[in-house]
Amino acid sequence: MRFFGLEREQRKLVSIKQIPPFVVHAVLAAEDARFFQHHGLDPKGIFRALYTNLRYGTIRQGGSTITQQLVKNYFLSSERTFSRKIQEIFLAITMEVLYEKKDILEIYLNEIYFGQKDSIAINGIGEAALFYYGKEVHHLTLAEAATIGGLIRAPNLYSPYINPSRAMVRRSAVLQSMLRRGWITSEEFNNAITDPLEPAGYTAYGRKAPYFIDYLTKQLETLYSSETLASLGLSIYTTLNSQVQIAAEQALEKGLSRLETRHPRADDGVDPTQRLQGAILVMQPKTGYILAMVGGRNYNQSQFNRIAQARRQPGSVFKPLVYAAAMKSFSPASLLSNQPRTYHLDGKTWNPRNAQTDEKEIVTMREALAHSLNVATVDLAMQIGLETVVAKAKTFRLSTPLTPFPSLALGSSEVLPLELARAYCAFAADGLLPYPLSLHEVLDEEGNILERRHMTIEQVLSPGEAFLISSMLRTAVETGTGRDLKDLGVLFPVAGKTGTTNDFKDAWFVGYTPDILALVWVGYDDGTPINASGASAALPIWADLVKAIPQYHSGQWFRRPPGIITCRICPETGKKALRFGCPNPVDEVFLEEMVPQETCDRHGKFGPFNKFMESIKDLFNEP
Ligand SMILES: [Zn+2]
Repeated sequence: MRFFGLEREQRKLVSIKQIPPFVVHAVLAAEDARFFQHHGLDPKGIFRALYTNLRYGTIRQGGSTITQQLVKNYFLSSERTFSRKIQEIFLAITMEVLYEKKDILEIYLNEIYFGQKDSIAINGIGEAALFYYGKEVHHLTLAEAATIGGLIRAPNLYSPYINPSRAMVRRSAVLQSMLRRGWITSEEFNNAITDPLEPAGYTAYGRKAPYFIDYLTKQLETLYSSETLASLGLSIYTTLNSQVQIAAEQALEKGLSRLETRHPRADDGVDPTQRLQGAILVMQPKTGYILAMVGGRNYNQSQFNRIAQARRQPGSVFKPLVYAAAMKSFSPASLLSNQPRTYHLDGKTWNPRNAQTDEKEIVTMREALAHSLNVATVDLAMQIGLETVVAKAKTFRLSTPLTPFPSLALGSSEVLPLELARAYCAFAADGLLPYPLSLHEVLDEEGNILERRHMTIEQVLSPGEAFLISSMLRTAVETGTGRDLKDLGVLFPVAGKTGTTNDFKDAWFVGYTPDILALVWVGYDDGTPINASGASAALPIWADLVKAIPQYHSGQWFRRPPGIITCRICPETGKKALRFGCPNPVDEVFLEEMVPQETCDRHGKFGPFNKFMESIKDLFNEP
């Protein structure tokens, strides 16, 4: 996708002759109905305002004519004090003496503030018509004009994007005022009052993938000097893939609607900013290119980017980082204790529990990660040391604070979803941590590539370690917590991890292949429980997304890097399986230096004897 220049401020100037009378009347009805009668001040309005002020002791009501508002906009700070009010009145009278009414109105209509689109202020009615309805002023309908006129008083409060119900009420008031003054007929009134309130959407305002563009705008400032960006005629080539972006947007909306039907929220429909939210990031792991970014459900309602700005608890999607920190001393066959125990910290006690209580007491590391066993994962984190886990996670460039508490292993420290996805990229890219890039390159007017600031690409795991993590996360998808993926129609090999945080506040799935990585998050901004797990809420969205873009994943699995050895082991002991005698031997992959040397001592010839001795020991250990 090509992206031209930096939109900062846009102003589409319109002459008053281009503005239909009913649009002018809508603005007057909303702000200053007696504009053509008074002389810059409206005595009635001022009297009313002064009365209110005396009662409350502060300036409560505007009582401002259009001329006063314009004066305020141009010359004065917006502090609400009586002395400023006097200045404003004086300047308004001066202005009325110097200019004709229709000139003042024209300047006003081109100057006044109609709302905000992140860093961009919407000024002037021409810009407002485009922003709210995607059309020129002279194409506005009466109902649309009344909506736009009505929002001048408090643009963000009455915005049809942010507050549709308030915008409707305000629109009706403006239409009634127009009818009362004879500016519209009752037939026109009746038609307009029943019109649906349908803003065009920000995309009509010339922006696709709006969250991505916000991110890109910030990244440009990080990677290029401000002098470079100030030069004219730059062409910016982004990493966005519009097919992937559309697939991500559609998969998210479909998934969230499905969840809302299943778990309706009590106050749903009251405030659109409190709707169920979700976010998706799709990356190419080797390059770090961002192929799609959906920072929320509806950019019109909320520009907060839940991929790049939200700090959320990762829950179990954090676990692979714990296992990554253990790769120097543990192998997928290493045994972990999965027996619940109590941890004592600073006078408090903590009892991690597994989601299911019927789990085995001893498990291999592969089983622990695949089935997302909390007890065994905390056991592992405590064995390698929490400081080791924190230090390893820091090498993955997680910028949010990580508290070295045993619960860290279960993802209790908040992370930025973008940084989490980037960390997973290292598993998919031979241990190389990429830089999350939104742009390929920037060309100047002559087509020369402009040099950008240095970006770091770091080796955070050996290729062998990364391969083992991917291998274990593939088991998680095939037989562990992500096993529903098959039923959802994803049949090629995938590595992935589900996550569900305390009280079901967040649902996650991060899944990848050698070609593509996607992170899906679902939750409420205010932390209201969604009553659904990562597997039931986020996983189906991930499946819908990847099924819609078959051309972007080959279905191939990772090539085995040098130094990885396969060895048949006995999962009960984590040792080399006997040629005969171990009941469930499995092939396991190891780093060369970690291949088990000992042979199983539980089965075979000595097995029954050992088992007998152990049961004797257990007898004496009974309390
Ligand atoms: Zn055995």
